[in-house]
Amino acid sequence: MSYTTQMDAARQGIVTEEMKVVAEKENIDVKELMSLMAKGQVIIPANKNHKCLSPNGIGSKLRTKINVNLGTSRDCVDLNMELEKVNNAVAMGAEAIMDLSSFGDTQKFRRKLTSECPAIIGTVPIYDAVVYYHKALKDITTQEWLDIVEMHAKDGVDFMTIHCGINKATAKRFKDAKRLTNIVSRGGSIIFAWMEMTGNENPFYEHYDWILDICRKYDVTMSLGDACRPGCIADASDISQIEELVTLGELTKRAWEKDVQVMVEGPGHMPLNQIKANMEIQQTICKGAPFYVLGPLVTDVAPGYDHITAAIGGAIAATYGASFLCYVTPAEHLRLPDLEDVKEGIIASRIAAHAADIAKGVSGADEWDYKMSLARKKLDWEAMFDVAIDPEKARRYRESAKPEKEDTCSMCGNFCAVKNMNRILDGEIVSIFDE
Ligand code: SF4
Repeated sequence: MSYTTQMDAARQGIVTEEMKVVAEKENIDVKELMSLMAKGQVIIPANKNHKCLSPNGIGSKLRTKINVNLGTSRDCVDLNMELEKVNNAVAMGAEAIMDLSSFGDTQKFRRKLTSECPAIIGTVPIYDAVVYYHKALKDITTQEWLDIVEMHAKDGVDFMTIHCGINKATAKRFKDAKRLTNIVSRGGSIIFAWMEMTGNENPFYEHYDWILDICRKYDVTMSLGDACRPGCIADASDISQIEELVTLGELTKRAWEKDVQVMVEGPGHMPLNQIKANMEIQQTICKGAPFYVLGPLVTDVAPGYDHITAAIGGAIAATYGASFLCYVTPAEHLRLPDLEDVKEGIIASRIAAHAADIAKGVSGADEWDYKMSLARKKLDWEAMFDVAIDPEKARRYRESAKPEKEDTCSMCGNFCAVKNMNRILDGEIVSIFDE
């Protein structure tokens, strides 16, 4: 049986190997999975050239997934360090890695990822074009922008962020409406600058059908980039963001007409009280396509702690419909993250994703919490470490302040409510004072 993309297979009623794996991982019936995929509400990003992929689904009724951004920059070009981050990220449970390399031999790193890494691999071809062609931005031609997309597809990338929603009309609206922090999306700012300098239409918008044909050929999932995502609380849910979202809704429909899998990128910085409405608007306009959010960061004032501001927003966004969270590290807005920053960012995102999965009633999500609660009730410290989201930190903390009584911890010692309740309900005497 032949098919082009996973969506095409789902629409034809063909069960792919990737679908079988995802159905088993998610404990969902494969027919239900196929039905969601046929409607575009679930995607399995799986480039035909990414042979070592361990497939994962993203979307409705599935566990919330997380993405880790990595890659070289002009100031940090250590490939081995970036590979160590990749391996750590996969070991810590990240389902996707976005290679945002913007310096050095980017193709070598990208090909290494798609030949060795089992996680879903994403890229932003716009960044790479500037590095690859090694010339001024305004001199890059429309054809060259498109060629980079094809190159990434051939290299085995599973999804690509393409900033095709900021066309001339959106760009004009953005300039007329004015914003406090303008465009903070890296890819969005590059393509906007190119459009301003050349006077041309956004090549990814103008030649969208050509891009879709490439995506269909290799089964690359389109991640519709949000060039106008708000970069501060003051810009949240403004005209530019919403106008671009409307365009992304139209582009989603066009991708589905060619069986190309799609997810839609979202904010950004956003106050808590606007997140639910934003998720609902996106689901309505983009007909339930999976939503991929960067944060949202619920306040602007916490550099050094933006993994926390993003986890708060991410938990709410995922509860109300987002399916994919891009991690944010404590280094956000400050520097390229180091190994410890990456770890902190991943754990924060995983907490947000899991908290949302409990709230959404995702199959099996609360069983993990039940295991921890049972271990706590039994004061079984090894069992607690086993199920902890970060076993190493949990163990390190306990061992850094040993209690006098081994079964309790140094927080309450003899006053340990858990221990005293277990004993009194077992009919024992509880003295506390002289124990
Ligand atoms: S000592 Fe206090 S914090 Fe520690 S396990 Fe007992 S009740 Fe919990």
